[in-house]
Amino acid sequence: MANELSFDMMSNMDNHPKQETTLLLVKPDGVKRGLTGEIIRRIELRGLKIVGLAMITPSRDELDRHYPKDDAWLSRVGQKTLSTYEKYGYDAKKELGTTDALEIGKEVRGWLLDFMTSGPIVKVAVQGIHAVDMVRKLVGATMPSAAEMGTIRGDFSVDSAAAANRDKRSVHNLAHASELIEEAKKELMLWFQENEIHDYKRAEEDIMF
Ligand code: ADP
Repeated sequence: MANELSFDMMSNMDNHPKQETTLLLVKPDGVKRGLTGEIIRRIELRGLKIVGLAMITPSRDELDRHYPKDDAWLSRVGQKTLSTYEKYGYDAKKELGTTDALEIGKEVRGWLLDFMTSGPIVKVAVQGIHAVDMVRKLVGATMPSAAEMGTIRGDFSVDSAAAANRDKRSVHNLAHASELIEEAKKELMLWFQENEIHDYKRAEEDIMF
């Protein structure tokens, strides 16, 4: 159909930069707190275009395919716990039984899948110049205490690895956004069919860029 975008058009570097497309997920805490509209509003006001949107109840298997499971990613996640514990004076060995970032990362990933399957989420395909970086910036840093004011996480979330890990759960930080262009392509293909991605012109496109 003429108004659909192919995945190649969204991610091929030869295409116009304004066709870059990324994935944003409003997590179950964002949906349950009624922040879906506010999150999408911020994206639209920036001038980024919503090209795909739906509320879904994802399966654990889909989320297992969504989140990486390589050692580098797991260690990076575990390191976020260790850094938070160190900063705020908590004892990882005492609370979690280990100071091994990889082991902690594996544990956190399981909690993350529990959380992400705890209610509906909203999947959003967002298009625009440097969409990946722009949406990451709007969402803010992973840990709410580090997220700048003015970002979605900085303005609306108050959770921490220190609290979350003690309660054996992942941090509730409202939204997910793809980190790299290649990651965005993979994630969009996982969550969207090509006929769910739409092509249209925003009224202000001729003025803004
Ligand atoms: P981001 O979502 O900012 O890209 P990551 O990809 O590192 O962050 O982690 C994925 C998600 O896992 C985070 O958004 C957060 O919900 C959760 N998470 C990450 N690190 C931890 C941690 N140390 N403890 C609990 N939850 C975590």
